[in-house]
Amino acid sequence: MNIHIMELIPIDTHISAIDHGLLGLPGVGACYVVQGDAVALVESGTSLTVEATLAGLARLGVAPEAVEHILLTHVHMDHAGGAGYLAAALPRARVYIHSASAPHLSDPSRLIPSVRRAVGEAIWPLHGAILPIAPERLSAAEHLRLDLGRDVIIEALPTPGHSPDHISYWDRRSGGLFIGDAAGLCMPRYGLELVVTPPPAYDLVAQQQTIALLRGQHIERIYLTHFGAHKEVAERLARADECLQDLVALVDAALQDPGIDVAALARRWLPYPDEAPAALVAQSWGEMSVAGLLRYERKRRAIP
Ligand SMILES: [Zn+2]
Repeated sequence: MNIHIMELIPIDTHISAIDHGLLGLPGVGACYVVQGDAVALVESGTSLTVEATLAGLARLGVAPEAVEHILLTHVHMDHAGGAGYLAAALPRARVYIHSASAPHLSDPSRLIPSVRRAVGEAIWPLHGAILPIAPERLSAAEHLRLDLGRDVIIEALPTPGHSPDHISYWDRRSGGLFIGDAAGLCMPRYGLELVVTPPPAYDLVAQQQTIALLRGQHIERIYLTHFGAHKEVAERLARADECLQDLVALVDAALQDPGIDVAALARRWLPYPDEAPAALVAQSWGEMSVAGLLRYERKRRAIP
């Protein structure tokens, strides 16, 4: 495979981000390298980004044997899809995910069709494949506390809503939080800021509680998978909350109308960038979010 995109972004003395070119674009997906005496990776990207991640580790001078931990925020393909391939290339690494999702990584046969339905056919080919992980290399992440040495400590913080299995990870040394998709995405390169509320398991109340929980924490920085480190944490969380309220209002109004047009709703909700590939990302994640919230609200209100 050719690596089209790989950029290393220094974040802190002990943290680097690898832009691994998720969906074939720069500035859309990152995995983070956290270095104490031991090394942890946060997020796996998809199978299609694994080569770029491995190239990033090599560029950082991290030997494959030095990576002991792969921390996943949740089971969606762009966060966990590449984990099996990474685990194969990083022979000493243990993979951490919510215990409810771990079985899907050792047997992905039920996960794959569900994700394919959720993301849609247009963007599905960009999500790659899954290599099963042997159950003995998987560990529950809910109560994780890892001491990597050199004062680098990582602690799990369950943040459900975007998905029921979502877990964020504190980096205690920087006071930053690897936040996955818990509270909104921000891709400055594309002027794109949104919350993603995907089917089938999105939970609005849980996400609102998570955002409230996060707003009550002292978080120095958030490390977004989509994308990068952000210092203006309160502003980001407030924007996520607003963006979610906008979507809730749109979906609420649309539920009165029998001819709901998901694509039109997503367009009203989000700014779509001018650039064609980035517009496809906005469209795909926007429509997935409208569909996810519609499904949630129909279920909650028992609308057939
Ligand atoms: Zn997700």
